[in-house]
Amino acid sequence: MIKNNLKNQDAAAIADKKFGQNFLKDGRVLQQIIQSMPNDDLMVVEIGPGLGDLTKELVRVKNVTAFEVDKRLCEHLQSEFDEYLQKGSFRLNCGDVLERWGERSLVDEPYHLVANLPYYIATNIILKALNDPNCRSVLVMVQKEVAVKFSAEPGQKEFSALGVLAQTAGRGSICFDVPPEAFVPPPKVTSSVLRIIKERTLDDKGFEGFLKAAFSQPRKKLSKNLASSYSKDTINNLFTIEGLDPNIRPHEAATSIYHHLYNELKKDLIDGREQTKQQPAFTAK
Ligand code: SAM
Repeated sequence: MIKNNLKNQDAAAIADKKFGQNFLKDGRVLQQIIQSMPNDDLMVVEIGPGLGDLTKELVRVKNVTAFEVDKRLCEHLQSEFDEYLQKGSFRLNCGDVLERWGERSLVDEPYHLVANLPYYIATNIILKALNDPNCRSVLVMVQKEVAVKFSAEPGQKEFSALGVLAQTAGRGSICFDVPPEAFVPPPKVTSSVLRIIKERTLDDKGFEGFLKAAFSQPRKKLSKNLASSYSKDTINNLFTIEGLDPNIRPHEAATSIYHHLYNELKKDLIDGREQTKQQPAFTAK
């Protein structure tokens, strides 16, 4: 059984790399996360409460539902948060959150996701949250590189399919960076707290498939990338009709352009004018 009030060296000994365990031990950073949360009464979902340092701050001010995969940590959390579990203001689900999520909402009421995410599945979790109609916002600690991708603007070299999806769902921004020393054990990379305020839910897997084609070779021309999934003539015509520069690179096109191109191609596909060369473009996994 893991004891309460662990010292940093105990936390380091407990950490299991397989589950991406880097425990956040810097009290100032924990407070900064709490201060960056939306100011309303919605429930908070925490993925990976770990030893419960962030959870401790969250349960003081919010109803919390948590998902933790590591059985040892689940037992620890059950004893540490017994009072809140009894009151019903804290719910703990033990198991892999991705298995629980499936195609449905993770929980059956509106919520904000607040978490120090396991980095090996962080991108996947954020995309799930953007596709989850009950999720209203995301405030997560991730590898800085991932945060930059989700919050990038068109024209920046980091603008990718993830940036287009974040802008489609709402507004993404980096709240602050966090150095490795804030964690036990320290990760090899700098981290950032990423916030995405959702304005809508992603609901078209076909669009994600289209973006995969558009950004398949990020430094090549957008028209060329698309021409490897759709007919070259259709793409050339579309670029001419829309007055788009045929030399534009994927990171240079605005989110609205991606939606426009996708909708036009979808119309053509439905009308039977366009044959996809490769199936994935309209059937993203
Ligand atoms: N929230 C704690 C903190 O800030 O110190 C721990 C964060 S640690 C980076 C990531 C946590 O996610 C770990 O507790 C790990 O066991 C948990 N985790 C990893 N994979 C998971 C999964 N598939 N489902 C649920 N929890 C997972």
